[in-house]
Amino acid sequence: MSLVAVSKTKPVAAIEELYALGHRDFGENYVQELLSKSEVLPKDIRWHFIGHLQSNKVKQIISFVHLIHGVDSEKLLEEIQKQALKAGCQVDVLLQMHIAKEETKYGLDEKELSQILTKIKNGAYPNVNIRGLMGMASFTENIIEVSNEFKELKMQFDYANKAIGHPNFDILSMGMSGDYQIAMEEGSNMVRIGSLLFGQRK
Ligand SMILES: *Cc1c(COP(=O)(O)O)cnc(C)c1O
Repeated sequence: MSLVAVSKTKPVAAIEELYALGHRDFGENYVQELLSKSEVLPKDIRWHFIGHLQSNKVKQIISFVHLIHGVDSEKLLEEIQKQALKAGCQVDVLLQMHIAKEETKYGLDEKELSQILTKIKNGAYPNVNIRGLMGMASFTENIIEVSNEFKELKMQFDYANKAIGHPNFDILSMGMSGDYQIAMEEGSNMVRIGSLLFGQRK
């Protein structure tokens, strides 16, 4: 189980406090904020990009980002491949699935997932390591609904894992402050926690 401390909107000092306790995995969702924080913070921090990543910003983070959680289109994956090749590096990513009822949340549907899996198997993204899936459940008090959505994501993960058939496809990023317990019951092995660690965001 790994814990990504989601430090978006929080000051550098808040990150330093957790860093001093030995924590190294931090999540941000704006490129500009990630760049300015990473510049002043220790280089051994593992930065997780958890937001919606615009293609034109990929090159700004490609050389140092630890894991990109929100790959939600083939176009973005192609851009990550292109920039990683240019930078001469390998990049770890998760494919983001749309599991929530809300239209507003980003992510792939199952058809798009299987199209991408086919391309991966055909070697389309040699500089990209597809490490697993990520998803966000609906924002609701309805526990049954949330657990059903996480169950669905876990099934998609098992399906993709089989399809890819390689041991490094092993990360299932699901669960935030409000629903991480349900996510863990449903098979999550990476939770992204912000407000519970750092306090409410404004
Ligand atoms: C903000 C954010 C989180 C953390 O949310 P909390 O409810 O504060 O724990 C997790 N994942 C993503 C994708 C986020 O944008």
